[in-house]
Amino acid sequence: MIIVMKPLTPESEIKRMIEKVERTGCRVHLSKGDNYCILGLVGDIAGVNISNFESEDSVEKVLRVTDPYKLANRVFHPDDTVIKVRGSTIGGKSITVIAGPCSVESEDQLMTIAREVKRLGATFLRGGAYKPRTSPYSFQGLGEEGLKLLAKAREETGLPIVTEVVSTSLVELVASYADVLQIGARNMQNFELLKEVGRCGKPVLLKRGMSATVEDLLMAAEYVMSSGNPNVVLCERGIRTFENFTRNTLDISAIPALKRLSHLPVIVDPSHASGRWWMIEPLSKAAIAVGADGITVEVHNDPANALSDGEQSIKFKHFGTMMESIRKIAAVDGRTV
Ligand code: PEP
Ligand code: MN
Repeated sequence: MIIVMKPLTPESEIKRMIEKVERTGCRVHLSKGDNYCILGLVGDIAGVNISNFESEDSVEKVLRVTDPYKLANRVFHPDDTVIKVRGSTIGGKSITVIAGPCSVESEDQLMTIAREVKRLGATFLRGGAYKPRTSPYSFQGLGEEGLKLLAKAREETGLPIVTEVVSTSLVELVASYADVLQIGARNMQNFELLKEVGRCGKPVLLKRGMSATVEDLLMAAEYVMSSGNPNVVLCERGIRTFENFTRNTLDISAIPALKRLSHLPVIVDPSHASGRWWMIEPLSKAAIAVGADGITVEVHNDPANALSDGEQSIKFKHFGTMMESIRKIAAVDGRTV
């Protein structure tokens, strides 16, 4: 349920209304824009009598929110959420480009990639230190050593770092190095992990599970947000379908759907969606054209010898041409990269 207050309602009246809501046992999520003030009710609204609020002079209208996600819902927060990370932002008029290797492999590899993607216009550096691999025999990541290398690359390039956390016991450690914590597709419904990253205070990049619906993804975001962390970035990274030419199927329609249903920034991962390096540029263009706030792409100095996901990693040359292409697409609706 949301209570839309009349424009120019004084602070004292808003406070009185919040207290009135809290007496019903619900919590209030206050959302204020230039021309609106909305009290979103979180909790069990079964015992709330709508007419008790509709009859208040300062209330414009009261609406029931039937969707199960509330804090992530656009009706709770009509303006787009813009997340500040160090000097950069995610959401709004500028396009976020997160680039880097699938896995951090060595100092030389990471520093080479970090310098090049920075030069070509990336706004964040990605790289996995803890890798959730399908096979237990595949490279599992460098662990804390990888986090240290990411921090070193940030120090030199200034790029904030995005890296995955795979278990509750690692949240504190990963958060002490990372600027943005990634929750991978395989962990999208690991609810204990979602609650833990919800408590940690660092922005979260939440990747859609490979068999998750748009609503499942929004409910996963709701877990993080209801644990105290409003800074969630949604990521469409392809879903499992009968098609096996590509690694997954990029659900391009999920982007306008998520932008309509939620105020959270939405980014696209064309690398894991396609599994093929030569699809990265066209899929990135498509993502920006349909309104994504950014992309996350795997870039490698030597894809043929990468320890993970080489076949979907682009070389620097292709990252450069992809950046040029998405700049043109972004300019069509007044956005910049
Ligand atoms: C990744 O981004 O490195 C990754 C493992 O992606 P996903 O969780 O989407 O498979
Ligand atoms: Mn990968």
